[in-house]
Amino acid sequence: MLKKRIVIIGMGFGGIRAARILAGKGHDVVLVDRNNYHLFQPLLYQVATAGLEQESIAHSVRAMARSWPGTHFHLAEVSGVDLAAHEVQTGTGPIPYDYLIIGAGSVTNYFGLESVESHSFDLKELADAETLRNHILTAFERAVIEPDPAGKRALMTFVIVGGGPTGVEFAGALIELVHFVLAKDYPELSTHAARVVLVEATDRLLAAMPEEQSMYTLKKLRGMSVEVLLNARVVDAGPERVILHDGAVIPAHTLFWSAGVKAAPLAAVLEAPHTAGGRIPVEPDLTLPGHPEVYVIGDMAYLEQAGAALPMTAPVAMQMGIYAGRSVLAKENGTPLPPFHYHDKGSMATIGRNAAVASAFGINFRGYLAWLVWLLLHLYYLIGFRNRIVVMLNWVWYYWFHERQVRLITRRDTKHPL
Ligand SMILES: Cc1cc2nc3c(=O)[nH]c(=O)nc-3n(C[C@H](O)[C@H](O)[C@H](O)COP(=O)(O)OP(=O)(O)OC[C@H]3O[C@@H](n4cnc5c(N)ncnc54)[C@H](O)[C@@H]3O)c2cc1C
Repeated sequence: MLKKRIVIIGMGFGGIRAARILAGKGHDVVLVDRNNYHLFQPLLYQVATAGLEQESIAHSVRAMARSWPGTHFHLAEVSGVDLAAHEVQTGTGPIPYDYLIIGAGSVTNYFGLESVESHSFDLKELADAETLRNHILTAFERAVIEPDPAGKRALMTFVIVGGGPTGVEFAGALIELVHFVLAKDYPELSTHAARVVLVEATDRLLAAMPEEQSMYTLKKLRGMSVEVLLNARVVDAGPERVILHDGAVIPAHTLFWSAGVKAAPLAAVLEAPHTAGGRIPVEPDLTLPGHPEVYVIGDMAYLEQAGAALPMTAPVAMQMGIYAGRSVLAKENGTPLPPFHYHDKGSMATIGRNAAVASAFGINFRGYLAWLVWLLLHLYYLIGFRNRIVVMLNWVWYYWFHERQVRLITRRDTKHPL
């Protein structure tokens, strides 16, 4: 067998699964990412709401690569791919490849709403979560010294756009932070006047889940005092206000956008067709049309199954990464794999203490059991044994003592100064 050079762009959910499959198989595997860590994005909202230290949801790629024979990590921003020359272009020079696996993920999609983009927060990178936590805590500090009651209230109003899993989980975690923790930290404030407003454009939350789960989620969030606005859209925003489609104005200093994602900018520079969300339609074996040596996986890839596009989720990215790794090995052995098939094991979202919804293998469950399953699955998929222990300790501490440990304003240069 000839030794081949396999380059993997992106050490996200897809990329690390591909690397694990390819390690130790006699090939030269180059791992490229602009960050030197793998980030567990599903827990970013817990960093933003002071529940977890940022380090506990990330893991060094070099630490992982130690136990992956034949792999080498290269810290670099990829700017393009020369498909004809079989070269990846990076800020530190070109990297040649025999096979290429691209899993650069996605970025937030504001659908052209410029004022919203320039006045809102999103969660994609580790730094975003720290920035948002600093902003939330600073807003409470400012509220303490704000003499005008309306101004005080606007500082304690948080508008979240998008009723998908990220919006729901963030809304639940934020209202709990305010009621259980900040209410004790700020005795000089009437924190019951704080508002968490969740704005969803369709007529239900968690639209990808069965309707009964959406109903439960809505009831639960409203019971926790989250103001849920259905069939509502945010169309404009300024530093101190958010404007809805019907002209209603919500005075607020914090707008969090989780209403859409699109493929990472790297997709746009690849010479290939793109969907509206910038994703790249791939062949049934996840390769770029006309380039059987180039795989596109995870959020960047567009593939339909049973008449619907596969969602931009971690399980899809993981299964695609495993498939791409195996497919490269199979091609080298002269026995190509059958087309990729996504096995949907279900989806889940947590709402708050003892409350989550889960739908798996056609069974819907919710409440305490779903919450427990959510906790265990997130611990299982989190990379790094120490991270699991730290996260579990934080969760237990919070559960018993109603305290979130990371209530630190670590920087004053917030994205949107108050
Ligand atoms: C806040 C949040 C919550 C989420 N919650 C859930 C959830 O509960 N359940 C779920 O299933 N999914 C969830 N997702 C979606 C899930 O995280 C993604 O679907 C998944 O990460 C996609 O995996 P990927 O391998 O395609 O890309 P990613 O995991 O995003 O990894 C992409 C990697 O590529 C690197 N990269 C990007 N561009 C370049 C470049 N030009 N040069 C070098 N490196 C580059 C990045 O640094 C990153 O390491 C959530 C996402 C977010 C943002």
